[in-house]
Amino acid sequence: MQVPLIYLHGIAPGQYMVVQPVFITRDDPASASVLLEVGLPAADVRGEGLVSAPDAREYALAEVRLRLHQQRFRQDVLRAYRHRCTVCALREPALVQAAHIVEDRAEQGVAAVVNGLALCAIHHLAYDRNLMGIDPVGVVHIAKRLLDEQDGPMLREGLQGFHGRGISVPHRRQERPEPDRLEQRFDVFTRISDAA
Ligand SMILES: [Zn+2]
Repeated sequence: MQVPLIYLHGIAPGQYMVVQPVFITRDDPASASVLLEVGLPAADVRGEGLVSAPDAREYALAEVRLRLHQQRFRQDVLRAYRHRCTVCALREPALVQAAHIVEDRAEQGVAAVVNGLALCAIHHLAYDRNLMGIDPVGVVHIAKRLLDEQDGPMLREGLQGFHGRGISVPHRRQERPEPDRLEQRFDVFTRISDAA
C-alpha cells in the first residue's frame, strides 16, 4: 500500500533507534509476521512512488546498518568504561562520549569495544585533534605545545595535569583497548605533535 511506517529498533532496554520510512513488502498471515524494508526519505524520491528502486533500498539499508553499528559501538564502549572518561573519570552522561582509537571503515557490523575509549568532550576533542595522545601501555601524553603554554585551571588541571598518568581501562580484559590500535594512533599523535 506504500504506506510509510516508523520502526523503533531496540538497541538496549528502554532505548530505541528510529528507522524511517520503512515499508511492508511481504505479509505472511500464517506466521503473523511481515517483512519490512527500509525506504529513502520521501524528500529523496522524485515522483516514482515511495517505495524506491532496489539499489536505493540497498543504500538506505546500508545507512541504517551504519547508524546501528555506531549506536552499538557507543553503548558497548560506555558500558565497558562504566560511563566514565578514561582519562579524568568524569561521569556526566551528557559529556561522556565513545571515541574511536583508529577509524573503523572496515569494521561495519562489528561493534569493537577494543577500538574504543570513553572520553569526556574535552578529552575526546583533544584526542581527535592530536593535542593529547595515549601510548600503547595506556599513558597519557599532552602535546608539547600545550605543555609549554600557561593558562587558567582548565589547561593546568584538565590537560597538563594528566600528562604521564595512566588511563582507567575496563575491568574485563577482552574489552580493553588493543595495544596495536593504540600504537597505530599514537604514531600519528607523535608525528603531528613533534611537527607542531
Ligand atoms: Zn575527561
